[in-house]
Amino acid sequence: MFTIPVMDSARALATEAVHAGRDDLARQGLHAPPIDLSTTYPSYDSRGEAARIDAFATTGAEPEGPPVYGRLGNPTVARFETALARLEDTEAAVAFASGMAALSAVLLARSAMGLRHVVAVRPLYGCSDHLLTAGLLGSEVTWTDPAGIAEALRPDTGLVMVESPANPTLAEVDLRAVAHACGSVPLLADNTFATPVLQRPAEQGARLVLHSATKYLGGHGDVMAGVVACDEEFAGRLRQVRFATGGVLHPLAGYLLLRGLSTLPVRVRAASANAAELARRLAADPRVSGVHYPRIGGAMIAFEVEGDPHEVIAGVRLITPAVSLGSVDTLIQHPASISHRIVDADDRRGAGVSDRLLRLSVGLEDVEDLWADLDGALGERTGARLRERAVTGV
Ligand SMILES: *Cc1c(COP(=O)(O)O)cnc(C)c1O
Repeated sequence: MFTIPVMDSARALATEAVHAGRDDLARQGLHAPPIDLSTTYPSYDSRGEAARIDAFATTGAEPEGPPVYGRLGNPTVARFETALARLEDTEAAVAFASGMAALSAVLLARSAMGLRHVVAVRPLYGCSDHLLTAGLLGSEVTWTDPAGIAEALRPDTGLVMVESPANPTLAEVDLRAVAHACGSVPLLADNTFATPVLQRPAEQGARLVLHSATKYLGGHGDVMAGVVACDEEFAGRLRQVRFATGGVLHPLAGYLLLRGLSTLPVRVRAASANAAELARRLAADPRVSGVHYPRIGGAMIAFEVEGDPHEVIAGVRLITPAVSLGSVDTLIQHPASISHRIVDADDRRGAGVSDRLLRLSVGLEDVEDLWADLDGALGERTGARLRERAVTGV
């Protein structure tokens, strides 16, 4: 029961989204997935337990048979992992308490092998940048652009890390070209913004696909989680790190994420249609000096305003001024003040995150209501300031 049977035929993404990780339910006479809150599991066979623990210590493979202890694995969380692996088209996925816990586990798994050096492309999510730059886990980072990756590799390079589209500028990298430049060094692609609906980095050569599941996978702003989709060999090492360091995902969060996945394709497509329209209107608006919207689409927009970005944040009424993204409702934030505040100001600006940049996570509201709110926030305040400037010359 703990091991969920693998499907034998390929199914479309929308079908997997509502069925993967749930294939055994009908046979059990269930419809909604059960939530298993057990931290421990009874066993009268301690010889068998010993053998299962030995096997886990060797390969990190999911223990066969009944679960042992919550830190080794949980059946509800395993359903989410199975489903996400199916959507990303990887052999396995390993879930963590947050996106940062997931990235930490990857870094620890590599540095435990003596591979402490990381090559990374800016911009990355602010805290990922901070974790690498501050060397909090003993790693050393070389920042480069995609063209400089091959040259930056060293014998002790354990990881190449990119985000595409990147947080917060939505800059895109050619994953296939980057994967090629990495040679045998694993490429980690943070796929939080695109989701498997728009892009499956493993198909393009990324060995590790990371998500802040807090964002689109959960999709409702009420669950914090992270996940790495990868091959079974790497997944084994990540499970061992998770077991030993404890950054496990709570089963209730696993349940909510599985539920979130079932509407992921519909949410991403609907929010992307809204975002494409808002990006078009912003690009035509004289109060906006630049709009960044990815070629692959998506529900995120970044834009620079002519006026004061703080006034835009203060001016929204329907849109929520808050960090984070990927929820059913629209959020706006000022990266230089919040999501990327922890990155050194020069590094931040060098990565294209200007002080006038705003990041919009477009939700499922009616697009006309969203535009009316943005128009008001840009017009009444920023517009007024612009006129004031024109008059006073400041
Ligand atoms: C939010 C985010 C993270 C960190 O995830 P948490 O779940 O907040 O720990 C990592 N990468 C990207 C692109 C993000 O947006």
